[in-house]
Amino acid sequence: MKVVFIGTGTSTGVPVIGCKCRICSSNKPKNKRLRQSLWISEKNFSLLIDATIDLRQQALLYSIDKVDAIAITHPHADHILGLDETRIYSYLNKKPLPIYATKSTIDGIKRSLWYCFEEGIPKGGGLPEIELIEIKKEFSVGPLNLIPLKGDHGFQEVTGFRIGKLCYLTDCKKVPEETILKAKGCEILIINALREKPEHPTHMTVSESINVIRQINPQKAYLVHLGHQVDYDELKGKLPSDIEPAFDGLVLEL
Ligand SMILES: [Zn+2]
Ligand SMILES: [Zn+2]
Ligand SMILES: [Zn+2]
Repeated sequence: MKVVFIGTGTSTGVPVIGCKCRICSSNKPKNKRLRQSLWISEKNFSLLIDATIDLRQQALLYSIDKVDAIAITHPHADHILGLDETRIYSYLNKKPLPIYATKSTIDGIKRSLWYCFEEGIPKGGGLPEIELIEIKKEFSVGPLNLIPLKGDHGFQEVTGFRIGKLCYLTDCKKVPEETILKAKGCEILIINALREKPEHPTHMTVSESINVIRQINPQKAYLVHLGHQVDYDELKGKLPSDIEPAFDGLVLEL
């Protein structure tokens, strides 16, 4: 299984529009972050986790020429607005693109992309052809098996996934005990950390993430959904050797 970090940034992306801070002004490629997403492929099967606002840019940059399915973590704009870009994939696949999400996320997608689901709106190639499939428990897509993991995003639920040796948790403020138990013993943990401080009502800071990482105890953890307060090299230098900030373009082979 190949995992490509096609975006590691928080909802604004980094640089932030109009911001002149030293991270946003930095020339270092590892300080440039598109919106948070993973591209997972196995045996010619191609899965995206989330469809970000930057999906078109990510698809062109990483040559994501084929997508067979998408699993969505939650219906915030930075994670779902790229669904509108998926019409090219359903056109190439000659069938609607399967989108896996929990009931509350499906409701959110239907509210945001209402024009895809209303009766009587002509499709005419301009609308994404997506098939919303509700996640209730463990499920398979192509050769991949996904175990949903509950996360607490402050005011709403977010869904993470365990896929074999990999666990993925984004946009968590807290990680429930049942998820810690399901994630325990994974090889790689990808988990959100907005910045070192101050604390945030809906996203974990680096120290809050480390606290969860120590409970799950993976061989290696990568921090994602990073804000413009994070300089890649400085944060990497402060972290223990089994935890690293992720960066756009990082590839893992599992
Ligand atoms: Zn987000
Ligand atoms: Zn900035
Ligand atoms: Zn969110």
